[in-house]
Amino acid sequence: MSRFFSSKHSALTPYTPGEQPKDRKFVKLNTNENPFPPSPNAVRLACEAAQKLELYSDPEVLPLREKFAEVYGIDKDEVVFVNGSDDILNFAFMAFCDKDHPAVFPDITYSFYKVFASLHHVPYEEIPLKEDFTVDVNDYIGIGKNIFIANPNAPTGMAISRDDVEKIVSSNPDNIVLIDEAYVDFGGESVIPLIRKYKNLFVTGTYSKSRSMAGARLGFGIADRELIADINTLRYSTNPYNINLMTTAAGIGSLTDEEYTKKNIGVIKENRAWTAAELEKLGFKVLPSCTNFVFAMHPSFSGECIYKELRERGVLIRHFNDERIKEYNRISIGTMDQMEALIDALKEIVK
Ligand SMILES: *Cc1c(COP(=O)(O)O)cnc(C)c1O
Repeated sequence: MSRFFSSKHSALTPYTPGEQPKDRKFVKLNTNENPFPPSPNAVRLACEAAQKLELYSDPEVLPLREKFAEVYGIDKDEVVFVNGSDDILNFAFMAFCDKDHPAVFPDITYSFYKVFASLHHVPYEEIPLKEDFTVDVNDYIGIGKNIFIANPNAPTGMAISRDDVEKIVSSNPDNIVLIDEAYVDFGGESVIPLIRKYKNLFVTGTYSKSRSMAGARLGFGIADRELIADINTLRYSTNPYNINLMTTAAGIGSLTDEEYTKKNIGVIKENRAWTAAELEKLGFKVLPSCTNFVFAMHPSFSGECIYKELRERGVLIRHFNDERIKEYNRISIGTMDQMEALIDALKEIVK
C-alpha cells in the first residue's frame, strides 16, 4: 500500500476472481463461463459497431433497453444496463446502504457482497445457511435491513421459490431486497414479474452466464422506475459511458436470438445431469443444482486435494477456503468433452 492510499480504504480486502490462466491449455471449469460462443447475431452486430469506435457509446443505452423491455415484458425505464452485474451490485450498495441501512446476506454466497459492503462502509451481518446449505426464509422475514440474496445461490447452486422470495420482500417493505439472478436461466424462478407489485424489490442479472458474454461485461438491474432512477443518478455521477459500443450492440444481437440461448441452456442442463450422476458413481456428494455448475465433495478426499490433483491433470475447478465449504469444490458445466475429461481425471484420482 502506498503512503498516498486513502486510509478510508486501508481495511479493504478485494474480491479474488477465479484464475484466467494463460500458460497452458486447461479444461477450464472454474469461473462458470458458458462453454459455447455467443449468438452469431451478437458477434455480427459487435463487429459492425467496432467500425464506429471513434464515437462515444449511447449513455442512455436506449435501443438495448427497448429491445430488452420487449423481450422481458417490462418498461424500458424499469431497467438499467451496467458494466457486468458486479457493477450493479456496487451501485446498489452505494445507492441504498449506509450505516443506518445495514445489509444482510447468507454466510455462504457470492463473496463480492462482503467486499462492496466494506468498500462503502456498510455494516453487514452474515446469516448462516441451514446445515443442508439452503436459505432459511424465516431468517429474513421482517428483518428490517437491506437484503442481498443470490437466487439460485452461488456456490451452492440451490434456489428458493418465487413464493419464498415474495414472503421476504413483502415482510420488509422499508428495505431493499436485492435478488441476484445471475444463474436464474439454468433452473431458477425469476421474480422479475413482481417488480410492479413491490417497490422495494431490486433484481439483477447478467449476460455472462446463460448468454455466453462474460468477456463483453454486460449486466442489468430491474426494478421500480424510481429505484432505477437512483442508480442512474450514481451512474451519471461516475461513468455514464460504462457500456461500450460493441457490448451494447452484442447485447441487442443476443436478444434477437432467444432460441440459440435456450438451446445452449438445454445442453448445459443435460451435461449437468450427466456430470452429477457420474460424480455420484465415484462417491461424491453433489448438491442439487439450478445453475451451470455443481458443488460437490468426496468423503475420502479433501476439497483441496481434489482441486490440486485435477489441476495437475489439466482440469481447473474452483476451490474456496472458507471453513464451512472447504471440503467442496465448485465445478462449472462445460461441453460433454470437457465433462468427460473431468470424470476421466477424477477416476484416476479416486481409484
Ligand atoms: C457471475 C456472477 C455475477 C457477476 O457477473 P458479471 O455480470 O460477470 O459481473 C454476479 N452474481 C453472481 C452470484 C455471480 O455468480
